[in-house]
Amino acid sequence: SNSVTHAEVLVLGGGPGGYTAAFRAADLGKQVILVERYPVLGGVCLNVGCIPSKALLHTAQVIHEAEAMAEHGVSFGKPNIDLDQIRSWKQSVSQSLNQGLGKLAKQRKVTVINGVGKFATVNSLTVTSEAGEQTVTFDNAIIAAGSQPTKIPSFPHDDPRVWDSTDALELKSVPEKLLIVGGGIIGLEMATVYHALGSKISVVELMDQIIPGCDKDLVTPLQRKIKKQYANLWLQTSVKAMEATDAGIKVTMEGKGAPESDVFDAVLVAVGRRPNGKLIDADKAGVNVDERGFIPVDKQGRTNVSNIFAIGDIVGNPMLAHKATHEGKIAAEVIAGHKAGFDALTIPSVAYTDPEVAWMGLTETQAQQQGVEFNKAVFPWAASGRSLALGRSEGITKILTDKITGRILGAGFTGPGAGELVAEAVLALEMGADATDISLSIHPHPTLSETFAFAAEMIEGTITDLY
Ligand code: FAD
Repeated sequence: SNSVTHAEVLVLGGGPGGYTAAFRAADLGKQVILVERYPVLGGVCLNVGCIPSKALLHTAQVIHEAEAMAEHGVSFGKPNIDLDQIRSWKQSVSQSLNQGLGKLAKQRKVTVINGVGKFATVNSLTVTSEAGEQTVTFDNAIIAAGSQPTKIPSFPHDDPRVWDSTDALELKSVPEKLLIVGGGIIGLEMATVYHALGSKISVVELMDQIIPGCDKDLVTPLQRKIKKQYANLWLQTSVKAMEATDAGIKVTMEGKGAPESDVFDAVLVAVGRRPNGKLIDADKAGVNVDERGFIPVDKQGRTNVSNIFAIGDIVGNPMLAHKATHEGKIAAEVIAGHKAGFDALTIPSVAYTDPEVAWMGLTETQAQQQGVEFNKAVFPWAASGRSLALGRSEGITKILTDKITGRILGAGFTGPGAGELVAEAVLALEMGADATDISLSIHPHPTLSETFAFAAEMIEGTITDLY
């Protein structure tokens, strides 16, 4: 049956970008249809990304902390791991959020159509599902079709022992020897989980540091810990070939200190994500898609076609949920006639590893490359009472301020809870705070948040001798 339905606002994709845009548009009085291929809302983030990974990372953290307590007088013994139960707990976390989103859509009278959507014209989309084909016409559309893991054509991705992040989150087994290809955030978060569950982890990374893009001093505490805990960390190393054999996945490598080849029980390929721009027949609506699959947009989220917007992973980096939701609100508001636009000063990044690494604003490397004159302070958590009370001393808090205006340019945190701490630095940057604003704001004692004020005092020169 080919029925025709009309939407004032059609949203393609029900991830964090898409559902946020749909809800905002409905709240602003628009009649909204949301097209999603999967039976649940939430996209990558809620189903196979941010949320399930954090549920598993919590499990990993508890295991690690229990082990670490042995040094402080409390021993628990070896953990009993019930994979089925961990998996179903993880699923229950996503499910309760799925259900919540379903309710929010209903409350707002957002119509959700399940099926694969592809553009037919500049004002219509065809949705294909088991029930058949359906045409949805629209005044405005918001493309929020997201991204998927990058595959390397020569790797045996069809072998069940070669994983992408979705496979890793399924937690089917705990391989004895696990190779992580790619030392970025997603690869290292999964490494943290499987290390806690008992895998011997090797990480191979092309660049000379893990989490390329983050300043080296911020990743150093994590890198040191990985070197101590994991079987191998091979930097400046590339995977040349991968072959499925009976004994395991044979991986051929080339680089500093890595063996020419090694065999693993499983391999997680985490080398990045590619946008879904080429899979939605955007050309039929006249929407430009670049050669990588990204859809170029302006500050209001508008594509080259005036009634079609795009948001989230599909419009570019950084591919982060909080960027997608922010852009989703803007696109909906612009369609509703508001004067909205993207003018956030920064999009924070967080690796929820152990220790966590979080940063925002200008990195030191970027400041140097751009010739920006800055002052810098690095406060060591070894001088924080709260950090020591947690049995941790490896963290740091770093601030960069503008040499001329004194305002904060960038900040980074490494240590437990870094991802929570970076939010204060984002606010400081958005409000144009300088080091004095930060140090005069009274921070609760003893907390890790104080380290931000201490770093600000170091910039002012009021703390000099820490040890
Ligand atoms: P997506 O979440 O990709 O949603 C797109 C939706 O569109 C999907 O539901 C898809 O099914 C649907 N769709 C696509 N094409 C069609 C079509 N033709 N028809 C119908 N439906 C379609 N980000 C963070 O900020 N913090 C984190 O901690 C974090 N952790 C992550 C961990 C992992 C393992 C991964 C893989 C990602 C993580 N991310 C994290 C990134 C985050 O998941 C993405 O940035 C975010 O989901 C992007 O949202 P989006 O709305 O642009 O697209």
